[in-house]
Amino acid sequence: MLAVHLVQQSATPLRILLIDRAGTVGDGIAYATPNARHLLNVRVANMSAYDSDPDHFVRWLARSEATGMPAPSGAFVSRGLYGRYLRSTLSECLATHSGSSVIGVAAEVTRLQVEEGGVRLTTSNGDDHLVDRAALCVGNFPPALPVVPKATPLGAKRYIANPWSGALSQIGVDDTVLVVGTGLTMVDVVIDLRSRGHRGRIVAVSRRGFLPVGHREVGTYPSFLPADCLPQSVVALMRTVRREIATAAKRGIDWRAVLDALRPQTQALWRALPTAERRRFLRHLRPYWEVHRHRVAPVVSAEISTLQRAGQLVVHAGRTAGVELTDTGVVLIIRRRGETRLPLEGDWLVNCSGPQLDYERIDDPLIRTMFDAGLAKPDPLSLGLDVSDDYRLIDRDGRSSDVLFALGPPIRGGLWETTAVPDIRKQCAALAIQLCEAWRRYSAG
Ligand SMILES: Cc1cc2nc3c(=O)[nH]c(=O)nc-3n(C[C@H](O)[C@H](O)[C@H](O)COP(=O)(O)OP(=O)(O)OC[C@H]3O[C@@H](n4cnc5c(N)ncnc54)[C@H](O)[C@@H]3O)c2cc1C
Repeated sequence: MLAVHLVQQSATPLRILLIDRAGTVGDGIAYATPNARHLLNVRVANMSAYDSDPDHFVRWLARSEATGMPAPSGAFVSRGLYGRYLRSTLSECLATHSGSSVIGVAAEVTRLQVEEGGVRLTTSNGDDHLVDRAALCVGNFPPALPVVPKATPLGAKRYIANPWSGALSQIGVDDTVLVVGTGLTMVDVVIDLRSRGHRGRIVAVSRRGFLPVGHREVGTYPSFLPADCLPQSVVALMRTVRREIATAAKRGIDWRAVLDALRPQTQALWRALPTAERRRFLRHLRPYWEVHRHRVAPVVSAEISTLQRAGQLVVHAGRTAGVELTDTGVVLIIRRRGETRLPLEGDWLVNCSGPQLDYERIDDPLIRTMFDAGLAKPDPLSLGLDVSDDYRLIDRDGRSSDVLFALGPPIRGGLWETTAVPDIRKQCAALAIQLCEAWRRYSAG
């Protein structure tokens, strides 16, 4: 998406390298899935690559050979289609803006150095690429390990540490699967297993046992927070939102419409909160926010409810207190509120505990070498990388870089809502304008 916006914005031809260890363009984790039942969590009307042209994806779907038929703007189409949309948008953009080139490089960037002439990127196959500017669009990292009190042999065969690794295919259709985490990743895993004809039990556990709520067709609700006087505390924010939800309910309006009205202001709301209040939000409200804000397609929500009613999916609220792994099975010990330990037995344990956000603990060569060289540092809340308001990486000494930028999930700390397309497309457009303008000024001397 950034490449598309750069090509469109630049007055002169650009050479853009898209370096991805997966060797694909536009897929990432979200859109690489070949499972057509893995649906977008966002309506097609909100998934355009262009904030300024919100119907672009809807129009692509209507004319695309991929679907053959128009999708209503409130539809939720398969995620794999979205990767194709991004690739097609990039090709279309290159075809209409002559001169610029985009080169895909299938490799992992393991090192990044800032030099006199620009940025040197070293890849796992030993190649070096010298570029003028580099943007880290590295997405989410694999889940953190479930917190277990003692060192556990987590390399054991029956433990799937990363649900995106393809390892789910080893699971037998009658196996009992234990899942740590009850959010969007768990939902994906359940849909994946069901697509393979899974008949065995799936037992999922998280601290509160909350499941993502389903979308519902709701109208638009007017913005209700004055932009020049945003709440400065979590308590004030909560009070205002709850009052608005109650007012809306009296008029028969669903709470989802009220929360959706917050969307354009979420980043401003986050920025208005002092760091201590952001911490308070993370400690107390985050699980509620996640399940109500990041909803799933109605058909997905219905399938999860059906599985729960049938007893095939069981959800527990509790803390993981221990794991025993053998070559043939797993015992996950959980501690439910006010109760002693409850052992859960299964054939497999799948980690769906959400992406690792604490970059100090991420075992990734690129991040490690950047931290070691002082080129980047974690944000104050340890939700990602520290960046300036205009997406520049902030180095160990607090200086904003002129050549290194980051977008999307890694900049969660400064913006909070930064993982979904409606947020990312704005960042891409803004960074493209900024880079092209800087380049124009430089070229003009
Ligand atoms: C399962 C899932 C479903 C989602 N569904 C939706 C949805 O329906 N709607 C929505 O708006 N958002 C959704 N999202 C949010 C999603 O994160 C964003 O929409 C978007 O994909 C983020 O794009 P990105 O390019 O920042 O990161 P990603 O798409 O994750 O891409 C990052 C890429 O960087 C590569 N990479 C990382 N480090 C290196 C390195 N050192 N060297 C080389 N390559 C590297 C990875 O291989 C990966 O391909 C979903 C996310 C997930 C995980």
